[in-house]
Amino acid sequence: MQQETKCIEAGYTPKNGEPRMIPIVQSTTFKYDTSADMGKLFDLEAEGYFYSRLQNPTNDMVAAKIAALEGGSAAMLTSSGQAATFFSVFNIAGAGDHVIASSTIYGGSFNLFNVTMRKMGIDFTFVDPECSDEELEAAFKPNTKAVFGETIANPALIVFDIERFAKAAHKHGVPLIIDNTFATPINCRPFEWGADIVTHSTTKYMDGHDSTVGGAIVDSGNFDWMAHADKFPGLCTPDESYHGITYAEKFGKEKAYITKATVQLMRDLGAVPSAINCYILNLGLESMAVRVQRHCENAQKVAEFLNNNENVSYVTYPGLTGDKYYDRAKKYMPNGTCGVISFGVKGGRKTAEEFMKNLKLAIIATHVADAHTCVLHPASSTHRQMTDEELLAGGVKADMVRLSVGIENVNDIIADLKQALEAAKN
Ligand SMILES: *Cc1c(COP(=O)(O)O)cnc(C)c1O
Repeated sequence: MQQETKCIEAGYTPKNGEPRMIPIVQSTTFKYDTSADMGKLFDLEAEGYFYSRLQNPTNDMVAAKIAALEGGSAAMLTSSGQAATFFSVFNIAGAGDHVIASSTIYGGSFNLFNVTMRKMGIDFTFVDPECSDEELEAAFKPNTKAVFGETIANPALIVFDIERFAKAAHKHGVPLIIDNTFATPINCRPFEWGADIVTHSTTKYMDGHDSTVGGAIVDSGNFDWMAHADKFPGLCTPDESYHGITYAEKFGKEKAYITKATVQLMRDLGAVPSAINCYILNLGLESMAVRVQRHCENAQKVAEFLNNNENVSYVTYPGLTGDKYYDRAKKYMPNGTCGVISFGVKGGRKTAEEFMKNLKLAIIATHVADAHTCVLHPASSTHRQMTDEELLAGGVKADMVRLSVGIENVNDIIADLKQALEAAKN
């Protein structure tokens, strides 16, 4: 199946007389005839459902669709993108371990790593995604357990060199985790470039309608945990909280990582999405291929308009010829990148704020990547916890406006931007 078809068909195939849409199984619990039947589920000897904190049929159908879209072997949904990011790393790194992350990742991921997970005893090194091979090599330590990057960094719009980082990670026997939120599997499939795990904030293009916060983790099934058993005791030695099961042995390369994250992390931390939210996410996924294509077409035209506007000081959009990441974007995302553009308004911070106040169609919102066009000033909102040095390392300028181009008629979007730029000048 092609991606457009998977958006509609993957994850659930109704049998004779069954509902066409995925059923919403809004039930906390599941009934069994004997305690012995249920015991098999608790021992992970049989597959099935017993409590929706661990697994729910609606959630699993939508996870299976996302796994198919990414070309992965297994996937799980979480209640937010943050939970997905946290689980993806915490599943293989604990106190005393070390993780390498790109310095330009999403602000929420940066705080999670740099503040909260440090408190848990996990050490992080943030590397410039454009660092030299020597610098990258020097970041690895004997206790390094993973490398983490973002296909297209939110909001810096830096295109990550997935292939290069995958090679470096594999040389050191650790997986590459890629946050593929902005590109979506419609525009980029990180597994094809060597990534091992993919995460998503499904809140963005996957849902796409400002409706549901959610996250997803997908495993490629390619990383050989047992070949690096000394590094990954959580997967390669018995889990005493699960009757001594060794995940990598019992579930193999394809299922070990997601099974452990489900039966251990979801069991203990409980960041599970509701069945109804998964159903809403599935509605978004069905139209994702056509929406993402339109987002990219609109953003391309808007970026070109801004680039030629005398009140704009710079435009960053990887689809723009002359953009620093144009060539790399063409390699990893030949059909388009995303609908998000960043640019500076001439006159600096004050004029930028004035411009935003004058917008009529585009709304000011802490959000990106959905049907409605919206704008945000990262330095005074999503990234306000960061110091000026951290901001700069994250590729965020203080006068930068982040514009998420929606799927309205592009002429209406451009007209709105044009009048607000004119008004801000005065
Ligand atoms: C929004 C976002 C997240 C966090 O996701 P939530 O669903 O808001 O928790 C993670 N990564 C990226 C790239 C994002 O844009």
